[in-house]
Amino acid sequence: MDRSTQWDTIIIGAGAAGLSCGVKLAQAGQRVLILEARDRPGGRIWTFAEPNSQIYIEAGAEFIHGNLPFTFQWLHQAGLKAIPVEGKQVRIGAISHRTSTTANHWQQFYEQLSHLQHDMPLLAFLDKFFPAPAYHDFRKQVLRFAIGYDAADPQKVSVQALAQEWQTEEGPNYRIESSSHKASLGFGYGAFINTMQQAYEQAGGKLIFRHQVKQMDFSSPTYAQIKTESPVGPASFEARSIVCTLPPGIFQHSSSAAPQVVPTSALPDLMQRLGFGNSIKIVFIWQNAWWTDIWGPDLGFIFAETDIPTWWTAYPQPWPVLTGWLSGKNSSRPSKSLLNQAFSSLSAISRMPPEKLRKISTKYYIFDWFRDPFACGSYGYPVPQLNPILQNLQQLFPQRLYFAGESYVSRPPWGTVESAIRSGQEVAECILKQSFTNFE
Ligand SMILES: Cc1cc2nc3c(=O)[nH]c(=O)nc-3n(C[C@H](O)[C@H](O)[C@H](O)COP(=O)(O)OP(=O)(O)OC[C@H]3O[C@@H](n4cnc5c(N)ncnc54)[C@H](O)[C@@H]3O)c2cc1C
Repeated sequence: MDRSTQWDTIIIGAGAAGLSCGVKLAQAGQRVLILEARDRPGGRIWTFAEPNSQIYIEAGAEFIHGNLPFTFQWLHQAGLKAIPVEGKQVRIGAISHRTSTTANHWQQFYEQLSHLQHDMPLLAFLDKFFPAPAYHDFRKQVLRFAIGYDAADPQKVSVQALAQEWQTEEGPNYRIESSSHKASLGFGYGAFINTMQQAYEQAGGKLIFRHQVKQMDFSSPTYAQIKTESPVGPASFEARSIVCTLPPGIFQHSSSAAPQVVPTSALPDLMQRLGFGNSIKIVFIWQNAWWTDIWGPDLGFIFAETDIPTWWTAYPQPWPVLTGWLSGKNSSRPSKSLLNQAFSSLSAISRMPPEKLRKISTKYYIFDWFRDPFACGSYGYPVPQLNPILQNLQQLFPQRLYFAGESYVSRPPWGTVESAIRSGQEVAECILKQSFTNFE
């Protein structure tokens, strides 16, 4: 037997879900292999340092949305701290959230929901119970929240699941400290991922980068075969169980990263039915933090009715960095047009001419996750009938193919690192229970 190609479990993807699953399996004594297409771990977590400065950039996940147990457990293990995201919030133009004018409508919204017998998409719910024009402003607020925060398609997202999330107060948002005393771990969410990778490798797990899975073959009833493509050519691996952590977007948009599944199954159809949105981050580095002259040094967030509607600073870090956020189904567009929209949005917000803004910006990054073939979007959102879809996925090749990752969870918080870690651990527990039962 070739031990280098035969494993107890192969995990596809070294994001938060894959690593958390791998740690648990490897610690339980399994021979585990993680195959990752990129040359780095983390997937939709990607932190990098800006050369010759203290600044680090979060291209993907940046915040911890509340007191989330799995995330905080890993933070403590890493010796990293979470810093509450405070700072002034500025709203510009007609932007408002649950003001007195719409407060009654929000009450009505939750009241109406409490009587709803069958879940439905958000837009269908609004059309049925809050038809325009009397509810115009209210509908705008609701849709803005669903699209902006949850990256959801209103025609597809579950109204019940969204409302449940909105009603749950999870505490403040946090960022991960810049960790100068743990510099070897890296920064922000990157340090978090590096801790997971360390724990995985210390437990004996093996991780191979630049191995893109091209095929998952379940023809045999007892093992699965995985075929990969790498810079050194094709390779083949076998395992009793496969954990797939690939984002549904890569199947929905037939990315080159979507592996072929043998024998043919309902997997592609089931993936189409899941909710998976897109978000774009535009990060600007400036000559100086010009906004302090307008709103003071403690500016946190800006919400505006501009093409790029949400912006935030690095506060409490004094860095001259602003991040713009655009979400939604049709958010992806050419970089040039995003850049123009970013400057005109900031011009409307700051009342500075775009030319002046261009002059004082020193660098920018655009992270459009739809264009990333290994993600094809940013994160998942819940749809009506989510549980049967998830059950059908887990039943495609029972006890051989499992799905872990933020998109394959049946409860909130949706689309988060927390969900990715939790689902990775839950799938590992399931595999361990199964191998124990088989052994008996
Ligand atoms: C812009 C943005 C902002 C976000 N902000 C937040 C936030 O503030 N807070 C928060 O909690 N969450 C946030 N998220 C969501 C969070 O990043 C994800 O929920 C989480 O990182 C997903 O982890 P995962 O392991 O499920 O998937 P992934 O991280 O996507 O891991 C899947 C892995 O599979 C790999 N892969 C893909 N195809 C193949 C293949 N064919 N073969 C081998 N490997 C492959 C990928 O490279 C990737 O490493 C954000 C996401 C984005 C994009």
